[in-house]
Amino acid sequence: MAIAQIIIFISAVIIATFFVLDRITTITYNIKLGKDETIHSDLSFRLKSMLLIAFGQKKMFKRPIAALLHLAVYGAFLITQIELIEIFIDGFIGKHRSIWALLHGWQPTRWLYTITINMIELASIGALFATFAFLWRRNALKLPRFHKPEMKGWPSLDANLILLFEIALVTFIMMMNGGDQALQRMGAHHYHQTDMFVVSYPISMFLEQFSMNTVLFVERVGWWGHILLVLFFLVYVTYSKHLHIALAFPNTFFTRPEPKGQLANMPAVQKEVASMFDESMAEEPVDMNEELPSFGAKDVTELSWKSLLEAYTCTECGRCTSSCPANITGKKLSPRKIMMDTRDRMEELGKYKRMNGADEHDGKSLISDEYVSKEELRACTTCNACVEECPININPLKIIVELRRSMIMEEADSPQEWNTMFTNLENNQAPWQFAQSERLKWTEELNN
Ligand code: SF4
Ligand code: SF4
Repeated sequence: MAIAQIIIFISAVIIATFFVLDRITTITYNIKLGKDETIHSDLSFRLKSMLLIAFGQKKMFKRPIAALLHLAVYGAFLITQIELIEIFIDGFIGKHRSIWALLHGWQPTRWLYTITINMIELASIGALFATFAFLWRRNALKLPRFHKPEMKGWPSLDANLILLFEIALVTFIMMMNGGDQALQRMGAHHYHQTDMFVVSYPISMFLEQFSMNTVLFVERVGWWGHILLVLFFLVYVTYSKHLHIALAFPNTFFTRPEPKGQLANMPAVQKEVASMFDESMAEEPVDMNEELPSFGAKDVTELSWKSLLEAYTCTECGRCTSSCPANITGKKLSPRKIMMDTRDRMEELGKYKRMNGADEHDGKSLISDEYVSKEELRACTTCNACVEECPININPLKIIVELRRSMIMEEADSPQEWNTMFTNLENNQAPWQFAQSERLKWTEELNN
């Protein structure tokens, strides 16, 4: 029996590892489709950002109720990894509670084990309540940010599936620990006599009324259900918005140090503007061999790797969208959708390139009715609220600005009113139709 368990367990681990590694390779390839971006920050800034924002969840606490619920699930997720280590060891060697067997001989380590398992059980119950609250908020309370058009279909199903996985995981833990304690008292072979685990103890009392075979079945279903669901979850998460569990750490580690929402200058335009103010620059000879500059980004390959990493990191929480003045006033723009579209387009183009060669392009674009429409791009006020709100330092505005620059400066696609303003800027260095020499004319009336 132990041999069969080892074989099935190792096979499951190998299969899950294969799929996870394959997916990591794909995601890395897709992120590398982006352009270079150098982030000028020192190690202490990076570590501080990562520890405060990703590990410490600092920005989540702007909305305390959601933050506490999220903390309950996140805390349980972290602490249950300890019991998972023992389950993995047991799976590999075909034993049961192998860490307990190692530690129970010495009182301090015995207490440490018992306290840890009890904490895991308590945290799991906390996570269970939080999960039901999340399901209720999402499906019964119908918070508007969870029901925007971009959340229809898979994104909504994905969010609910993860919550159901969480409930199943806690159920399996309780079946495993409750069955285990009942079997200990029933004198089942190879079930070590542990100390009491408070949450699963009443379950063990309930199970004791059944036959040993039935309890053994419950305990085994709990053990296998738990480990197989964890392995399935590891694969599933790489296709899900829950990829942020892993990517929030590199994403915050590479936080841009500039003030949030600061727009990067376009060197060619900067030079042009500088020459308006410094005539000596305007007389600089034009280098005919110089490559014509391109402006903004039309597709994911023209966005930076950091923006693409952010697209994979997005949790689809919608905090950005719920603070976006354009979205609030009924415009089509949703910064969350911008991140989701960027990720989906990256997946599409990455797949095409892997099948047809890295230099090939499918001829599609991120600016399109299938992904980000021009109507959405025009609606952005560059107010920066989305950047401010994001709990994991994602910057949707950077992508919007790059796409809009391409739309306007490469395709000359802008409304007539904007064109008038651009002409005025070029001629008068101001958005109005006045010559520079007339700017102070209004003050003359004050002197009369
Ligand atoms: S910067 Fe644009 S997308 Fe972001 S919140 Fe403001 S209007 Fe919305
Ligand atoms: S960009 Fe940030 S705030 Fe917006 S949905 Fe993604 S994680 Fe949430």
